Parts: sequence; structure tokens; C-alpha cells
Amino acid sequence: MSLTDRVAPPDRATVNVAGLRCRECGATEPVGPVNVCGCCFGPLEIAYDDAAVAATVTRARIEAGPRSMWRYADLLPVLSEDLTLRVDLGTGWTPLRPAPRLAAALGLGELWLKDDTRNPSGSF
Ligand SMILES: [Zn+2]
Repeated sequence: MSLTDRVAPPDRATVNVAGLRCRECGATEPVGPVNVCGCCFGPLEIAYDDAAVAATVTRARIEAGPRSMWRYADLLPVLSEDLTLRVDLGTGWTPLRPAPRLAAALGLGELWLKDDTRNPSGSF
């Protein structure tokens, strides 16, 4: 399988990001190039539009998505509905590998390891 075989173009787009929220004090800010709260200097994280997520995301919708991280696009902090801006190098869907010798050494009947070295970055 070549890299281009693994690339599946995203087939849908939603923007479920409401803004940024401080993990310390809960203050909210519009999305922008900031990572700390202007009130308390706490870390900011993405705040999702929970109503939009609840109205959009279903198990069937996720299962129908491409075999890539974009399957979870509705749950990612994506700020554009322009599908052409989404890059997909085939991240994810790495295989599970049996590890019988390690399982035996650990006294386990069966052990499987997730081979995330197959990701484009070679890491997880
Ligand atoms: Zn704060």
C-alpha cells in the first residue's frame, strides 16, 4: 500500500468550534492566536458548540467517514468548512500486531501491540 492509497479525501465538513475556554477560570475568548487566558494566565482550550455537536455527530456518521483522522472531523478543532484545506497523510488506522513472546514473558495468554510506527510521522 502506498501513501497515496491511504489518503482518503474528507467527504464532509462542519465547524463545531465555539471559541476558546480557560481551563482554570472558565473565561471564554474568541478563537485566535492566543494560548493563555487574559484574566488568569491559565491555559486555553477549544470550546465546542455542544448543541451543534449533539445535533451533528452520530455513530453512523462517524462510521461512514473516511478511514483517516478526518472520520472524527466533527470532533476536531477545525475552523474551516473548506475541505481542500484539510491535509491527510494517512494518519491512523495502524494495525494491531500479536506479541506472543512478550505475552509469554509477562504471563499473559495473549497480547497485541498497536503499531503506531506506521503513522506518517513514525510516532504516535
Ligand atoms: Zn482564566
